[in-house]
Amino acid sequence: MSEKRTDVNQLGEFGLIDHLTKDVDKKVESTEFGIGDDAAVISISDDTSMLISTDMLIEGVHFNLMYMPLKHLGYKAVAVNVSDICAMNGVAEQITVSIAVSSRFPIEALEELYDGINTACKAYNVDLVGGDTTSSLTGLTISITAIGRAAKKDISYRSGASEFDLLVVTGDLGAAYMGLQLLEREKEVYKANPNIQPDLDGHDYIMQRQLKPEARIDIIKFLRELNVVPSSMIDISDGLASEIMHLCKSSEVGCHIYGEKIPIDTTTSTSALEFNLDPVTCALNGGEDFELLFTVKQEDFDKIKGNPHMTFIGHMTDKSEGIYHVDKAGSLVELQAQGWDHFDKKN
Ligand code: ADP
Ligand code: MG
Repeated sequence: MSEKRTDVNQLGEFGLIDHLTKDVDKKVESTEFGIGDDAAVISISDDTSMLISTDMLIEGVHFNLMYMPLKHLGYKAVAVNVSDICAMNGVAEQITVSIAVSSRFPIEALEELYDGINTACKAYNVDLVGGDTTSSLTGLTISITAIGRAAKKDISYRSGASEFDLLVVTGDLGAAYMGLQLLEREKEVYKANPNIQPDLDGHDYIMQRQLKPEARIDIIKFLRELNVVPSSMIDISDGLASEIMHLCKSSEVGCHIYGEKIPIDTTTSTSALEFNLDPVTCALNGGEDFELLFTVKQEDFDKIKGNPHMTFIGHMTDKSEGIYHVDKAGSLVELQAQGWDHFDKKN
């Protein structure tokens, strides 16, 4: 290691990945696609590929055990990895689970974690096939790798969008972020006075979206049934704005998205207003919804139109037109990604 010390904050999470992997080259024939998408793509036969994705969750960074039950944490850790396989238009089949645990955790706590992992494996029809277990000085770390499969002709990369393609999002957005705001608020209230009961009534949906997100394996099935292969796709882990920018950057296109069209549940909007936040801003920048964001060719419009799980929110443009959010008044605001960047100064 050289003497020079450069702060990781200078680059941000994505800048750091780019920097560290700039010299990575491809040596092996079966490596179809490596770094830069939701999962790596490995050729296993003439028409089929294996998909591999890995994600790590760290106590104090990605979860807080004050309000996150360990069973939910286990479920979520699997769901976020299965979601990355969905984002390639593939089907997850196996996972491996690695944990680092401090002595603070009794066996019973880890049993709860695995209860959640097993429940998710059942829900997503994946097998737990290995992992690693080690001790940690403080806290809990979980790293899961998901392995999936897709026909080569069905794989959706981030880089496949073209000008005039339509932008579609599944489910609704912003709820997981509002759930987090609520849980954080009640945590502070509890810390100030442990006798006060948390006020979570009527907020089941947003809390569930934060504590027990689901990977959209149902959407992958619907797409097959509709005979639609998205021209590009990504899952929404860091926030809609940030993911749109990833699609645009990889596909070398621009985009217009219409704020009014973004699907937001009414309970999300109500909570946002309670917190003095703009619901559209929460949907654009709040993370962890784990919905899918994809583009389709215009000729697929009729197949998706009216589907209750999918909403058109914009269209792709020429790269030179930039990436814009069209607000209610019709004015164009350049889209800023304020998503969940782990090395961002505000985190
Ligand atoms: P996602 O949000 O879908 O999990 P990430 O933003 O974490 O994706 O990662 C983007 C890409 O960078 C992926 O292809 C991932 O495998 C790769 N990547 C992330 N961290 C590293 C690393 N430390 N070394 C090599 N590749 C990495
Ligand atoms: Mg992803």
